[in-house]
Amino acid sequence: MAQVLSPGQVLEAPVPKKEDDEWRENLNVRMICPDCREDPPDLYEDHASGDMICTSCGLVLSQRNIDVSSEWRTFSNDDQGNDDPSRVGDGPNALLNGAQLNTGIAFGEGMRSKDLHRAQNKANTDKTNKGLLMAYKQIGALCDGWQLPGSVSDTAKHMFKDASESGLFKGKTQEALIAGCLFLACRRNQVPRTFREVTDLTRVSKKEIGRIFKTLEDFFRKREKERANGDGTAMIGGGTIVTQEAYVGSTQADPSDLCNRFCSLLEMDQKATNVAIQLAAKLKETGGLAGRSPLSAAAAAIFMAGHLMDQPKSAKEISGVAKVSDSTIRQAYKLLYQDKDVLIDADLINRGVNVEKLPKPA
Ligand SMILES: [Zn+2]
Repeated sequence: MAQVLSPGQVLEAPVPKKEDDEWRENLNVRMICPDCREDPPDLYEDHASGDMICTSCGLVLSQRNIDVSSEWRTFSNDDQGNDDPSRVGDGPNALLNGAQLNTGIAFGEGMRSKDLHRAQNKANTDKTNKGLLMAYKQIGALCDGWQLPGSVSDTAKHMFKDASESGLFKGKTQEALIAGCLFLACRRNQVPRTFREVTDLTRVSKKEIGRIFKTLEDFFRKREKERANGDGTAMIGGGTIVTQEAYVGSTQADPSDLCNRFCSLLEMDQKATNVAIQLAAKLKETGGLAGRSPLSAAAAAIFMAGHLMDQPKSAKEISGVAKVSDSTIRQAYKLLYQDKDVLIDADLINRGVNVEKLPKPA
C-alpha cells in the first residue's frame, strides 16, 4: 500500500507484533568461528571424529556431531559424480516367506562371480519362495489378460499362499489351484466371473475348478471359524499374513451383475443395459426362472431388454457372450414372456420400453 510522506519524514519499518516473534524461527543464527570471526566461515566437518573445525585457526567449534549423510557409498554412478538419493530397497513382501534380507550374489563379469552366483543358487534351500513367485507371475498374467484390477490379483495371491501352505491341496495341480483362487478372488471383489469363463482362460476343466472351489471355500470358512473362536490373532500355518477382513462365503452369481458385463460386450447402450439389469433384478424378486442358472437368467433378460429397447440381439449373439446355448436362452425367454405383465412394470414403461416390439416365443 502506498504511503504519503510529509517532507523530512523517514519511513519506519513496521514493528513486528510480539506474538509474531514468538514462533518465528530466527534464520540469522549462523555458526562462525569465535576466534577469527571470519565471514563467511571456512568450517570443515570431520566425519571420522565428529568434529566441526575452523580451517583458518584450527579451533574445534563442536564435537560429537551426528552425521546425517548416507551411511554407504555408491559405486553405480561413480562416473557421474552425483549422490544416489535412494537409501533403502523395497519393504518386505508379505506375499513371500521370510524378511528377504538375504544377500544375493549378482551374475556378473570377473571375480568368478558366475561361479559364486551358481553356487549360491544351488545352496539356497528356500525353494518355496521360488515356487510362490512362479505362481504369482501366472496369477498376475491371468489377471492382466482379463484386465482385472490389482486388488483381484492380490486377493488371489494371498489365497494361493494360504491354500498351498495348508497342505490340503497336495494332489491338485498348481494350475487348478490358481484357477480356483482366481474364481474366488473375482467373487470376493465383486467382479464375478463364471466357471466357464475361468475355464476358457485357464484351460482347467469346469469340473476341476468346481471341485477346487468347494474345497477352497470350505478351507477359508473353517479357518475363519477357528480365528473367531481363538483370540483373533491366530497365525495360520506360520504365515505372515493375517487378513483383517473376515472371509465372506461367496453366493451364487447375481444375474444383474452379469447383465452389466454381457451388455457391454454386446455393445448395447446404457439405457438398454439398465433395462436388462432391472429385468434381472425383478426376476429375482418374483422368483421366475428359479432353479435356472444365473447365466441363462441374465441371457434371457438381455434378450428381452434388447427387443424392448429397439436394440434386438439374437439368441445366437447372446449365446456367444454368455456361453449358454441359444436354445436355453429361447426356453428361458418363453418363461419370461409369460410373466411379461409382471416383469415390465410402470417404471420400465416410463423409460420408453415398447412392449409391442417383443417377439412371440416360438
Ligand atoms: Zn577460526
